[in-house]
Amino acid sequence: MQGERSDSSGAQFLVTEVRVKLTDDPRNKLRAYCSVTIGDAFVVRDLKIIDGNKGPFVAMPSRKLADHCPKCHHKNHLRAAYCNQCGSRLDPERAPKDSRGRARLHADLAHPINSQTRIELHKAVVRAYAEEVEAAKTAGASYRPKSFDDFDVLSDMIDDEYLEELERRQEERERRRQQERGEHGLAAGG
Ligand SMILES: [Zn+2]
Repeated sequence: MQGERSDSSGAQFLVTEVRVKLTDDPRNKLRAYCSVTIGDAFVVRDLKIIDGNKGPFVAMPSRKLADHCPKCHHKNHLRAAYCNQCGSRLDPERAPKDSRGRARLHADLAHPINSQTRIELHKAVVRAYAEEVEAAKTAGASYRPKSFDDFDVLSDMIDDEYLEELERRQEERERRRQQERGEHGLAAGG
């Protein structure tokens, strides 16, 4: 589950390094890959900066959800219309739906569990991204993206469906936060 508490127990969370690798395909909504070091001790890779409809935002490392073919038990992506293994017809609309009937096709592999940590993480990543964009601008034609060793062979296209799913989640979080603020406000005022 991707539950997130809204308390402020993120005080121990310290981002000590962010590395940013800008992508260079203008058709791709993926703007950069990032790796984040926490407390000089733990690295999380494959965070992404995605160019959303309301500007760039940070996406956590994620995987596409899959299920098993009812006939041969091969794993297929939830949108697959045919089994990759035996070719059986599958229902491309079989993904679990949220309360508004929208499919959930991805799950985050690592993510903050409270809003303070989320805010700290996003601030650090967005700052590092902005600095890298600035460095690229300054260097102009002589800019070379940083080498991340095996990071260099990573390549993802951000499809519209994933982007939509991420933006929907953001909106839901925002709504929940406002709701909670409203409830706290009422409690304080009443
Ligand atoms: Zn099958």
